[in-house]
Amino acid sequence: MPDNITVAGIAVDTRHWIGGRRVASAGTFTDHSPIDGSVLGEIARGGPAEAEAAVAAARDAFPDWAGTSRSERARILHAIADGVEKRMEELAIVETTDNGALLRSHRRGVMPRVAHNFRFFADWLLQLDHEDFETRGHTNHVSWDPAGPCVLITPWNAPLMLATWKVAPALAAGDTVVLKPAEWSPLTASLLADIAAEAGLPAGVLNVVQGHGSEVGDALTSHPDVRRISFTGSVPTARRIAASAAANLTPLSLELGGKSPLLVFADADLDLAVDLAVEQYDNAGQVCLAGTRLLVEESVAEEFTRRFVQRASALTQGDPRDEATDIGPTIHPRQLEKIDGFVQRAVAAGARAVIGGHRKDGQYYAPTLLTDVAQNSEIVQEEVFGPVLTLQTFAGEDEAVRLANDTRFGLAATVATGDRDRAERITARLVAGTVWVNCFFVRDLKAPFGGSRQSGVGREGGTWSFDFYCDLKNTVTAPKGWNQDHG
Ligand code: NAD
Repeated sequence: MPDNITVAGIAVDTRHWIGGRRVASAGTFTDHSPIDGSVLGEIARGGPAEAEAAVAAARDAFPDWAGTSRSERARILHAIADGVEKRMEELAIVETTDNGALLRSHRRGVMPRVAHNFRFFADWLLQLDHEDFETRGHTNHVSWDPAGPCVLITPWNAPLMLATWKVAPALAAGDTVVLKPAEWSPLTASLLADIAAEAGLPAGVLNVVQGHGSEVGDALTSHPDVRRISFTGSVPTARRIAASAAANLTPLSLELGGKSPLLVFADADLDLAVDLAVEQYDNAGQVCLAGTRLLVEESVAEEFTRRFVQRASALTQGDPRDEATDIGPTIHPRQLEKIDGFVQRAVAAGARAVIGGHRKDGQYYAPTLLTDVAQNSEIVQEEVFGPVLTLQTFAGEDEAVRLANDTRFGLAATVATGDRDRAERITARLVAGTVWVNCFFVRDLKAPFGGSRQSGVGREGGTWSFDFYCDLKNTVTAPKGWNQDHG
């Protein structure tokens, strides 16, 4: 198998990155581009042996990295951000080719944010502190100790953004990392390993293991030397990981799926509400936070639907490398199949496709809006992870909140209303890790991020990330007992 492939003229190493070396595997898996289904290359297919080697490398590198001063760690994280910025265009092109999300978003939003992930946690580390406090003359000093090797497992819908959202705080905390990117979008993780090495990150501090989760995952998540597992992905995989981690009671952070509501009240700026709703087709709906359940107050539902259809029909679907494209392909034929299965079962159960409801050529799915859906139906209760929205109506705040909260998820919610008091009343009653009012997807790295109910366990972001990636220690020192020499 060749060690390198070329993606739009950019060389990407297809092997693992373990202990500061490229490592091949006996087997490979094939990586396709969702844009046209073309083969991008054969990628090293990790298994238990590669998992073991990567954890061993992370364990061996841990004492030195944990002992590195905060300022030196921060300096290296900034150097990684510099490297990301230098290779921004290449990263954007490789990511778009590999996962099909819009090139213009990767160029202007995602890759700058990847660099920012490193800068933000480097800077946050330097001001991370707790005031000492006193207990009957004794001093309490709280320290943020590095925890150890971390296993970070990420999905394909925003590969490098989600990987670095975990890698950056883990490295800042003084932990070492084994990153397992998704098998449907493995390439930018490999480029990140190059960038980190060029930035001077010591060997073994960041390791990348490629492969199928079902083959390499268990060996990583059940390993007794792993001190933290942070996972972003689906609920069924999270259950398997939690069961595997239970052997060692390894602390877990889980960022999972959603079925988030977007509530539109009659007093809302309707054009703004329509814009927010159409935005949910972003990344072909393959966004965990997407507000896929449109809940619209009865009195404006007809007008809202009319304007929505007009706006959505103007969206351009096609090659994500084209600057004019609004909606790209779905990630994989299996995902396309899954999306269509949800839609066809919903239609068979009585739903009406106001727009879309069908596949298009290649791996593309038409942006879809379904009405006449029952609250307890599969299409309202389960995450589709495609460009499929449902629309239900409500009468009054109580019904709006009841419908909004009536799923097993609690990742996010969006509220469109022109009334501040109503916004306060409604947001207080919604079960969600993030609530947006008259906006969507505004995210600050300082804010806690995560889901309620089956959308996740724990929060990351700002100090919450360090809470997770560190072992917090309280040292209590008595005022007496000192030798005279040591005052
Ligand atoms: P997935 O659960 O199928 O896979 C995610 C990762 O887990 C992949 O790297 C996969 O290889 C790995 N994996 C699979 N089996 C494993 C095992 N047994 N042990 C260890 N690792 C294993 O999810 P996906 O389809 O890649 O991603 C889509 C899901 O991710 C959706 O549910 C979406 O909502 C969720 N998501 C959540 C967030 C969030 O922040 N809450 C963000 C993005 C995506």
